[in-house]
Parts: sequence; C-alpha cells; structure tokens
Amino acid sequence: MRLPVCNFDIESDMLCPNCQAKLDRGEITEFDIQFSKWLLEKEKQYPSLDGLTLRKAATAGSRLILVVNKKNKEILLAEEALMQEITDEYGEIIIIEGAPKLRRIVREFITPANEVGVNSLWSPDGTKENIVMLRVEDRERIKYDNDELREIISAIMGESVLFEYQDDRRKPEQDNEEPDAFDEKMKNLTERRF
Ligand SMILES: [Zn+2]
Repeated sequence: MRLPVCNFDIESDMLCPNCQAKLDRGEITEFDIQFSKWLLEKEKQYPSLDGLTLRKAATAGSRLILVVNKKNKEILLAEEALMQEITDEYGEIIIIEGAPKLRRIVREFITPANEVGVNSLWSPDGTKENIVMLRVEDRERIKYDNDELREIISAIMGESVLFEYQDDRRKPEQDNEEPDAFDEKMKNLTERRF
C-alpha cells in the first residue's frame, strides 16, 4: 500500500525529513498521517490493500474523503467489511479517483446540473480561493446544500471552494440586510490584492 507518508515513518512513529517538510508546507496533514496509520494496520487483515495508493485522506463534517489512484476505488469497494469498519470509525465515505481537478470534482457532486463558472483568486499569502457559480434553477437538482459542497469540495481540493447561486445577490429583500458572506469575501479578496 502506498500512503501520503512513507510506510516506514508510520511504523517507526517518526516522520523522515521529507515527510516532515511536506507536513510543514501543508501538502499533507496530521489527518493524512492518522488515517494512514489506521489503514496500514488494516492491511494485515485485508491483504488486497497492498495494491492501493492512497493520495489523501480528509474529513468534511461527518464524511470521510479518500483520494486514491485511478482504478483503486474498486479495491476498497470490494472489501465490504473494511468499508463498514471505515464508516463506523470515520463516517460516510466519499472516494475520489485520480488527481482532483476542480471542475471535474464539482461536476461529480452537482450532477445532473452544471456550474455556470469558476473564479479562482490568489490572496497575497499564497492561498487560493475558488468561487463556483451555480444556477438558482438547479438548486433542487443538486443533492448537497452550499455548505456541504463547500465542506466536501474544499476537503478534496485542499483549498477553499465556495459555492454561490447566481441570483442569490439579486434578491431585493436582501438589499437592506447585512452584506452576505459572498459579497464580504469578494470585497476582502479585492482589497487584499492591492
Ligand atoms: Zn517519510
């Protein structure tokens, strides 16, 4: 099994300089390490895990996100007892195959709807913010609400991904209310860029 950290690091309970640097840069997280350790232990019981490459593990609310190599989803799905163990321990499992590309991932979760557009902005601190615009008439067709989409897709991508229905900001009743989170975010991002 290939994991986001070296198997040796997990077995020795200490990160090598390479993995430590990845952790410091945020390329891997404490959760990647924690979950890798748990899963490596399970390989004894489920030898087919030997063929698995886990690229990333993350939590999104009560869900567990696993990013694995192409054609690796089957390895996990074939082990029904393991899938149950993972669910009991970590929550509903979402498995993504291959390097996550934002538009492909977004479409997987909003199908049969399509996004209107994606804006990506870099803040001066080097973090990326993405805003996905959706059609308001698709709201009923998308099985996740905005917060769930944000939580899940941000966890998969490892960067902030916000969702906004296109005419949310045109509702006249909102005019006299506080500016919504999206406007606020856009304003902050714009200001930060100068
Ligand atoms: Zn290492």
